[in-house]
Amino acid sequence: MSGSLDQVYKGNDLGAVYTKERTTFRVWIPTAEEVELRIYPDGVDSEPLEVLAMKPDAEGTWLAEKTGDCQKLFYTYHILQNGVWTETIDVYAKAAGVNGKRGMVVDLRSTDPAGFSEDAYQNPDSVTDLVVYEVSVRDFSADDSSGIRQKGQFLGMVESGTHNATGEKTGMDYVKELGITHVQLMPVYDFGSVDESKPLENQYNWGYDPINYNLPEGSYASDAYDGSVRIRQMKEMIQTFHENGIGVIMDVVYNHTYSGPDSCLHKTIPFYYHRTDETGFTDGSGCGNEIASERSMVRKMIIDSLCYWVQEYHIDGFRFDLMAVLDQETMREAKTALKKIRPDVVLYGEGWTGGPSALPENRRSLKAYMKMLPQIGAFSDDCRDVIRGDVFVAEGIGFAGGAPELEELVRFAVVGATEHPEVTEGLYSDESWAAAPGQSVNYVSCHDNFSLWDKLAVSLPDLTVDERKAVNRLAAAMVFMCQGMPFLLSGEEMLRSKVDPVTGQPVENSFNVSVEINSMKWNLVHENADIVEYYRGLIAFRKAHQALRMTKTEQIQKYLRFSEVKEQKVVAYKIEAGKVGDTAERLFVIFNANKKKVQVPLPDQGTWKAYIDGTHAGTEALYEVQGSAEVLPVSALVLIQ
Ligand code: CA
Repeated sequence: MSGSLDQVYKGNDLGAVYTKERTTFRVWIPTAEEVELRIYPDGVDSEPLEVLAMKPDAEGTWLAEKTGDCQKLFYTYHILQNGVWTETIDVYAKAAGVNGKRGMVVDLRSTDPAGFSEDAYQNPDSVTDLVVYEVSVRDFSADDSSGIRQKGQFLGMVESGTHNATGEKTGMDYVKELGITHVQLMPVYDFGSVDESKPLENQYNWGYDPINYNLPEGSYASDAYDGSVRIRQMKEMIQTFHENGIGVIMDVVYNHTYSGPDSCLHKTIPFYYHRTDETGFTDGSGCGNEIASERSMVRKMIIDSLCYWVQEYHIDGFRFDLMAVLDQETMREAKTALKKIRPDVVLYGEGWTGGPSALPENRRSLKAYMKMLPQIGAFSDDCRDVIRGDVFVAEGIGFAGGAPELEELVRFAVVGATEHPEVTEGLYSDESWAAAPGQSVNYVSCHDNFSLWDKLAVSLPDLTVDERKAVNRLAAAMVFMCQGMPFLLSGEEMLRSKVDPVTGQPVENSFNVSVEINSMKWNLVHENADIVEYYRGLIAFRKAHQALRMTKTEQIQKYLRFSEVKEQKVVAYKIEAGKVGDTAERLFVIFNANKKKVQVPLPDQGTWKAYIDGTHAGTEALYEVQGSAEVLPVSALVLIQ
């Protein structure tokens, strides 16, 4: 028998569904002529213990049932279609053996750490209240300076009481003290570029190369062979973050698979899950293939997967890699499905593709279409590059580095890419693209491209280290004073660098270079303690002031006003803070990118108190000013009345 790919299976029992008495296996392959279920004793290379013929069932699915307790038995599907037999892991596998070759039947309740069912972290009321810290599980603890025992592991993320050589806190304790609200984990689903069966010393990859969407990466667990270990350890990591008041956002790569032809998707149904043209796989991801999210059962697979991570692992939000490869309808339906489970779920992504996609432009989840995707955010490259300089031009400098004629474009970042009477356009946008400030993810560093500190070194080679630190502080202050959701790469605040020890040069695209280059160096917490303290102060100040975290575009339009300043390379604005429930009556923010100090008249009579200047930031007043403010070279000044 062979059916049509138009058949849609709506049930929620795809994959292996375990009970102690029996396990059922259901797979959607309308095009198959025959399907066999192969049962194995391990996930590696053993011969099958048993082969069961699967029976055609509802809407193009095939069904088999095995009685008895199947916990930790491994399985694959052996599929005949177009006259060819192919063996593959289940697209819906929830557990797998080493390197994700064979699925594993798992009693998910047995993978819950003690107390997991009571774990119930709540995201803040507004996404503008978040401060997101992007972390790679491997990079976080790999270096000896971390003092973390379980290096490169899920559980290393949440070790407590760890210190660097000079005694400063490291790891989770440090992150907690920094004040960030959420960690965003770089890929933690099962990726293909690291061989889990080999020592990790000479292997490194960020993992933007999915092989199994619904189970954790094995190299981050203490045992990659028993598929239940990685599940339990990832859950334990999430639970511990939650116990420490930190939310967990997962970086998801539903836009492509590690390999097109060798993926379980393609092996299950050739050319269904990926987009193609007459030449074969199309490449909207820039990684060799792209997922056809607009097809019914592909869309279902993505949405089922997202819901699964929330329900089973208690993930609090998602960052969508190359979100524009996914169609808008999929994003909208995903949001609806997720909000039913978690009304507070956080969703944002990269509003661009990685290559020429076969999806028509007007269906892509592009940054320019974010107003049609309310409650989903996008990374603001308008903010990133206007402050730090073009990420694609190494020498490119931004406002913070002293580039002229960017004042108008900085305003666009300040209002979080929303519509505002005093703002015309952004660096890369002719008009506003955020319907609400929470849709704008504001940042000057992420895992891609140079770290901020390296970018400043490359683009501002004539500056002294101290001068560059001033640029860095100004850039950071700008991000935290913008409306929207602030985001930073872990270690930005300690001047993290990705310098190759052999060439002495910073590495721009470090996705597969050594762990030595990528890992966080925790001695920097000591060496750059003043910068860390400055970031900590910026975060604390932002958290203390609702005026910086407005939730509605209308509030920004009404209560945020830019000042006309005579000097070039200066942007200043006032917020009627008291009007949006802030403890302060007014905020006045000035960014001065000049190498000289400037005098800026204050917008209201009376005394203003400075809380942030070029070297200090926090919730304690530094000094008072009246009439006009002197703003030091290359610095921010934030005043309260
Ligand atoms: Ca893997």
